[in-house]
Amino acid sequence: MNILVINAGSSSLKFQLFNMNDESVLAKGKVERIGMDSSLVCYEPAGKPEEQEVAEILEHTTAVRKVLQMLVHKRHGVLESIDEIDAVGHRVVHGGESFPSSVIVDEDVKREIRRLFDLAPLHNPAHMLGINAVEENLPQTPQVVVFDTAFHQSMPAASYLYPIPMVLYRKHKIRRYGFHGTSHAYVSDRAAKLLQKPLDQLKLITCHIGNGASCTAVWNGKSYDTSMGMTPLEGLMMGTRSGDIDPAIVPYAMGKEDLTLGEVNSMLNKHSGLIAISGISSDMREILEAMEAGDRGAKLAFDMYEYRLRKYIGAYAAAMNGVDAIVFTAGVGENSAALRGAVCGNLTFLGIEFDEAANLSRDRGERRITTEASRVQVLVIPTNEELVIARDTHELILARTNVV
Ligand code: AMP
Repeated sequence: MNILVINAGSSSLKFQLFNMNDESVLAKGKVERIGMDSSLVCYEPAGKPEEQEVAEILEHTTAVRKVLQMLVHKRHGVLESIDEIDAVGHRVVHGGESFPSSVIVDEDVKREIRRLFDLAPLHNPAHMLGINAVEENLPQTPQVVVFDTAFHQSMPAASYLYPIPMVLYRKHKIRRYGFHGTSHAYVSDRAAKLLQKPLDQLKLITCHIGNGASCTAVWNGKSYDTSMGMTPLEGLMMGTRSGDIDPAIVPYAMGKEDLTLGEVNSMLNKHSGLIAISGISSDMREILEAMEAGDRGAKLAFDMYEYRLRKYIGAYAAAMNGVDAIVFTAGVGENSAALRGAVCGNLTFLGIEFDEAANLSRDRGERRITTEASRVQVLVIPTNEELVIARDTHELILARTNVV
């Protein structure tokens, strides 16, 4: 079975085509600058040279058509016909309380995703564009939606409620939802395999540290608490997001600086975090370079980033009354030995015996960076959210076929 995985943003569309017989990637790529001057199409077929093309792509339906043309192209295509695509899986950021797991798209599901636009105004409308664009191009092909929030629906009320008037939860569903769920679920599963222990007997802390960053307490295979909240703004310090701050700062700063709600929202989401403290960049590679060159702002930004992550790890170890393993994943978590070293070097009280050589190794695969004797293991596991989406889609389509 071939599954096309799509991650649609407001002006971009990323895709990967999987052959589920062996979970291999047949092709992947992205369309960028949809609706702007000269869109860019990047296409990487497995075992063939990469293609790049500048084209006029004004909306998502054209972007999907372009992707399908690439996939069946005479020279660099990987399929004979688009009929060989058996199903399409979409990433959807917010499933609210309605979707504790992935589902096949129908009219009710689309209505519910639209109802959730309020909770994820930047993401869900763009995903809907992607779903509609596939429907127009492949009307007979089943579609599945996989939610970033679904894995966290197992959190107990004590984790997901905020201590504010309950009417806000009852009337408006203001609560913690959490994000990066497919990533936290994937690395937890891989961690159990690496540790050769059943996932339902493990206490894990998974750290997805990329441009966006979140940390999850995974207790017996279920999300017990997670650092992102009703929106992805809460929790860890990120590239451009503040993470946790005193909420009273919002009205105070608005009054002092004469800011509108839109401006304060933009300040906290786009102009805070690493970029705000360093004054240099939101990109960890540039922060590390500047730090090495002696820049004090970059050093402070790094120290705050590491300190805030370490506090969450400590909190989640307490929340679960213990921890068996800590997992690092995503751009910074997978690649920055400096960050992992700083965090773990300051967690020796947990019984972590760090293996610095393993931490510094150029190996890019799944690996342990603690000694065998370490009471708490630390693992680096490259995430694969697209594969989770492809697997969920595959499973749901197979189940439906078997029922029919
Ligand atoms: P992601 O959102 O998972 O793509 O992660 C993006 C983040 O990973 C950016 O802040 C990058 O600077 C960071 N990153 C990627 N490669 C490295 C690296 N070799 N060292 C440190 N950070 C990295």
